[in-house]
Order: sequence, then C-alpha cells, then structure tokens
Amino acid sequence: MPLQSTKHIWHNGKLIRWEDAHVHVMSHVIHYGSSIFEGIRCYKTEQGAAIFRLPDHMQRMLDSAKIYRMDLPYTLEQLNEAVVETVEANGVAPCYVRPIAFRGYGELGVHPGKNPIEVYVGNFPWGKYVSGDHGADVCISSWNRLAPNTMPTLAKAGANYMNSQLIRMEAFTNGYDEGIGLDVNGLVSEGSGENLFLVYKGQLLTSYLGSSVLAGITRASILTLARDMGISVVEQPIPRELLYIADEVFFTGTAAEVTPIRSIDRILIKDGHAGPVTKQLAAEFFGITSGKRPDRFEWLTPVKVAVEEAVNA
Ligand code: PMP
Repeated sequence: MPLQSTKHIWHNGKLIRWEDAHVHVMSHVIHYGSSIFEGIRCYKTEQGAAIFRLPDHMQRMLDSAKIYRMDLPYTLEQLNEAVVETVEANGVAPCYVRPIAFRGYGELGVHPGKNPIEVYVGNFPWGKYVSGDHGADVCISSWNRLAPNTMPTLAKAGANYMNSQLIRMEAFTNGYDEGIGLDVNGLVSEGSGENLFLVYKGQLLTSYLGSSVLAGITRASILTLARDMGISVVEQPIPRELLYIADEVFFTGTAAEVTPIRSIDRILIKDGHAGPVTKQLAAEFFGITSGKRPDRFEWLTPVKVAVEEAVNA
C-alpha cells in the first residue's frame, strides 16, 4: 500500500514538514530495532472526526517504553495532545495515526547509552488492511510467535515486526490473506498484526495474554462489547484445532478492525460466512466508530478536522 504523504509530522514537541522528517543512517534504531510505536485510527463519524481510544493507545506506548527502559520525555496528556495537534494540522480524516519513539543518533553499540529519544507522530489516509471482502482466507504459519522471555510481546516494538513480516510474507507467498502464529507451545497466538477471536459452543474465546499476543486495544474493545451484550467471554490457551471446528473466527485490530475469517488452512469455518456473533459485535463496533450508535464507553476523542459530507450513491 503506497504511503500518501500529509503536510506535517510532529517531532519532539514541534510540527515539521513531512519532507524534513529524516533519520540518520547511524541512528541506534536502524541497527538494533530500538523503536516502540502505536497505530491508531481517526474515524469520520456523523458528528465529525474522532480518534478511537487515544489515551489507551498512548498509555500502551508509555508501557512499551517502560518495558524497554526508554524514558519518554512526555506525559500521557502531552502525547495525546501531540496526536490531536498533528491530525488537526494535517486536516485529513479518516486517517491512520502513527506515533513512534526510538533511540536516535549519537553512539553506536548495543547498549543504548546516551542516544537521544526521538518522538514523532505522523498521520496519513489508509484503507482496508486484511483483504477478502467475504471473509479472509488465512493459514497457520510455519513461524511461531515470539517465545516468552525473549522479545516481550506486550511491548509494541518495531523489532517484533520482523516476526510478523515472516508470518505475513509466508501467507502472501502461499496465496493467503493473512497468517496466524502459534506460540512456542503450539497454542494459538494471533495474526501477524491482529488478535484472534473464535466462537465455540456459544462462548467467545480469545488467547490469553500468556500466549505471546499484543494486548490489542480492539481486542479489549470487543471483550468489553461482548460482556456488555451478555455474551460469555473466555481468555484462555487455545489449541490450534479448535480454530478448524469453531463456529466463527475473526480478527481484530486497529488496521483490521473486525475482519471475519472464512477459512483456515483451506478448511472452511462453518459455512464460510460471517456468523451471528461476529456480525453483532461488528455492528456495535462500527456503529460506535461511525457515530451511528452512542459512544457509551467514551472511546472517541473529537478532533477539529473538516470532514466531507457523506455521499449517498
Ligand atoms: N497483534 C499485533 C501483533 C498487532 O500488530 C496489532 C496491531 N497493533 C494487534 C494485535 C491489534 O492491536 P490493536 O487492536 O491495538 O491495534
């Protein structure tokens, strides 16, 4: 997906021009993968543009930094404001927002030493992430997810995405829309950039945080919505074969939103169509993000960006 540039990028407290947001090749991050980041959606709701769960994303960014002993010189409030300022300055909605912090230029060597921490926020238009209009055809990857106590998966670190790249490239090479990684015990972990849910015997199941997953903000939203709608929810270790015999399987993520899965390893999930629980949760999720249903969990941060009137064909 080619990147569509916008005008400004926020860098260490100031807006700079998109063209000027350069990084030196000898920066620590380039050599050792020392970055942490977020991916956030700004929606075009019926009441105007609004960012989805902004404080939760920025808190996760602070948590990622903490895990990697990176002292971000900004508070949660300042990071929230940086995102709002960037989105408003660029005037693009809907869009995807990418805050990132990394160890910059100064010293080379694995220990980060006195390298400066650079913080940037950019945003740009972005569409659908997992293809497959009638549900995604996915595979179990031959690559496992990161083993516990090696790369911490609760940190959203750039380096983790080398593993995600292997999973996604293998899936694409073999003609699938996405790949699912198992953890080192062979239990279901998650997609290369999405959490995974399944419905089995009337219960909604998702992998627990011990299965090398990212604690997805969309995952948390779906858990909240499901509990609120009276659906029984369990976070637990999930054996691979439960996916094949599940009644419904779907991905969640900022990019993937709620994406039904049609088949796994060419085994059809039920009749291959999105099931009733997936549809009910997706309707509620997209209802809130579009402003058509009340924002009853206060997930939306309004931003001043002129959004065009919806065109009804
Ligand atoms: N797992 C991984 C590996 C991801 O990259 C993402 C996307 N950030 C997710 C899960 C979903 O997380 P979220 O709902 O916060 O976007």
